[in-house]
Amino acid sequence: MEFNLNEDQRAFQDAARRFAEKELFPFASEWDAKKIFPREAITKAGELGFCGVYTGEENGGLGLSRLDAAIIFEELAAACPSTTAYITIHNMVSWMIDQFAKDPVRQQLCPELASGRLLGSYCLTEPGSGSDAAGLKTTAIKKGNKYIINGTKAFISGAGESDILIVMARTGDEPGAKGISAFIVPAQTKGINFGEKEKKLGWNTQPTRFVFLDCVEIDEDFLLGELGEGFKIALKGLDGGRINIGTCSVGAAQGAINQAQRYMHERQQFGKSLSHFQSLQFKIADMGTELVAARQMVHLAAFKLDSHDPNATTYCAMAKRLATDMSFNICNEALQILGGYGCTQDFPVERLMRDARVHQVVEGTNEIMKLVISRKMLEEGATLQIR
Ligand SMILES: Cc1cc2nc3c(=O)[nH]c(=O)nc-3n(C[C@H](O)[C@H](O)[C@H](O)COP(=O)(O)OP(=O)(O)OC[C@H]3O[C@@H](n4cnc5c(N)ncnc54)[C@H](O)[C@@H]3O)c2cc1C
Repeated sequence: MEFNLNEDQRAFQDAARRFAEKELFPFASEWDAKKIFPREAITKAGELGFCGVYTGEENGGLGLSRLDAAIIFEELAAACPSTTAYITIHNMVSWMIDQFAKDPVRQQLCPELASGRLLGSYCLTEPGSGSDAAGLKTTAIKKGNKYIINGTKAFISGAGESDILIVMARTGDEPGAKGISAFIVPAQTKGINFGEKEKKLGWNTQPTRFVFLDCVEIDEDFLLGELGEGFKIALKGLDGGRINIGTCSVGAAQGAINQAQRYMHERQQFGKSLSHFQSLQFKIADMGTELVAARQMVHLAAFKLDSHDPNATTYCAMAKRLATDMSFNICNEALQILGGYGCTQDFPVERLMRDARVHQVVEGTNEIMKLVISRKMLEEGATLQIR
């Protein structure tokens, strides 16, 4: 078993860290405070390949593994979890099109997405169906060689800024997951309108909006995969998405710990630096221990997905649950170490904490992660080996 990064992974990690330090960290607080979507920085990330990390090389991506992607995204997230989380959603969209689009559509869109010249959004959630995503009501009705899509999507990351939407819609009479198909929908198509930006706790560098689809006509070639397979495709995207959110959480926690370590040496109280107080020493010891555990869990899940392990979905859910909960606790503890200054926007910790809090909800809440895990563990003749 090898725990060290290989030479290529170290090179990607260095490149991502340098990019994050130069292009993300110096601006992240302002983007957060002013709710600016940093499209230019995202396009620059695309120039380094970070918008198509696991999109195939033949389609313009880097063709890397999920584990490699986790190493890259963690570095970006330590600087700005919100922008990085959007980049990961975009990567999920690029990958879904790479894997499931018809050839001409894939050839047309993938290089544009992987380079960051076009941006994507993932549209599953609806006002009435969040955790119960298979209860979605948006419809796509076939008319000649077109589909006509009607419905409303809620909480869509990047909406209003992105160019390509992946929309899950009902194409069959069957209720639940079986009647759902997935479509590529160009965001400028007639009949699409966007809601106001949600006013949110975190993830403020990316817009979250309703998407209204009113008789939106798209060519039948924009169907992803086969008719009725859309929910499976959506969930396949989310396996990797959950590793990504876990990764963004590990990055946020690392950013918060870096700050807390520095502060404990700099800040003097009672005539000595905070690093001399045992309660804070124990706090930072727990934070470091939990960070390493979360990172290893995320890397294990990424490895399981890369190696097509039959239990990969369960490991992805475990990694998302563990990393997001631990990350929020670590950021919260870092804020405590900074005392009053931790509550101010002069330090990045409160921003990291707000972004980390969002991660416990998105891409399936942590309660839903526990449902996914327990279902597998309790199924007849359970095959999951917990080791
Ligand atoms: C900032 C942000 C960005 C987002 N971006 C996207 C996006 O890009 N694309 C997209 O499709 N969606 C997106 N979402 C939606 C997100 O995935 C949903 O908010 C999430 O899945 C939860 O759905 P809900 O908000 O409807 O909560 P609900 O499903 O109504 O859940 C409410 C509470 O009940 C709990 N609960 C529900 N069912 C059960 C159960 N069976 N057992 C135990 N507890 C349960 C939940 O865990 C939660 O605590 C985003 C959300 C946010 C906040």
